[in-house]
Amino acid sequence: MGYVFAAPAQAVVPIDGTVDLFPVHRIYCVGRNYVDHAKEMGFSEREAPFFFSKPADAVLPVPFGTTGELPYPSETTNLHHEIELVVAIGTRGSNIAAADAMKHVYGYAVGLDMTRRDLQFAMRDKGRPWDVSKGFDYSAPISPIKAVASTGEMLDAQIWLKVNGERRQDSSIAKLIWSVAETIEHLSRFFELRAGDLIYTGTPEGVGAVKRGDELEGGIERLGALKVRVV
Ligand code: MN
Repeated sequence: MGYVFAAPAQAVVPIDGTVDLFPVHRIYCVGRNYVDHAKEMGFSEREAPFFFSKPADAVLPVPFGTTGELPYPSETTNLHHEIELVVAIGTRGSNIAAADAMKHVYGYAVGLDMTRRDLQFAMRDKGRPWDVSKGFDYSAPISPIKAVASTGEMLDAQIWLKVNGERRQDSSIAKLIWSVAETIEHLSRFFELRAGDLIYTGTPEGVGAVKRGDELEGGIERLGALKVRVV
């Protein structure tokens, strides 16, 4: 017996400083995890974290020192950037206590949660799923992963994004409403986290539209920078 056609290629993200690859199992994302971004989306109350996901093969890995090409997606006229800290899970677990969360973290990366904002608002207003606004192909550009052994726990680091050299987002990981450890605690109640999972932890304020030809450069202190061009 065999597959009736070739099995899909495993989605991977490079590990910085090695020739090794991180095989992606799932991509989870946290919604509204910085106060000032929640406000710019029209929300003001603290609430438990909520989650959505993208397909594993939505990753667009971009090696350091290179510029990735991000195809402008169909069916939108309002493609938004969201710069985010990404947590790479290395050890499986469910019902993980925040105090134990770091044992499950392999490392971190810089990611972009690209969003069809017009479709997201349309789906949100009708109470429909966000998949078409969040889970399209190439919607998850990501830098190489740095192992936690080289970065330490990411509790306080600057996070920023420029579009064509102009600073659009500028904040700190310290401003996450739900820290990485707390996010893992909540998420692992709903899903057994597995080695290979990526968690996009949410974006700070300053999200906005990009168009074809724009160059996005975003970074996080100690993790490096991610560059993509919209094509
Ligand atoms: Mn996001």
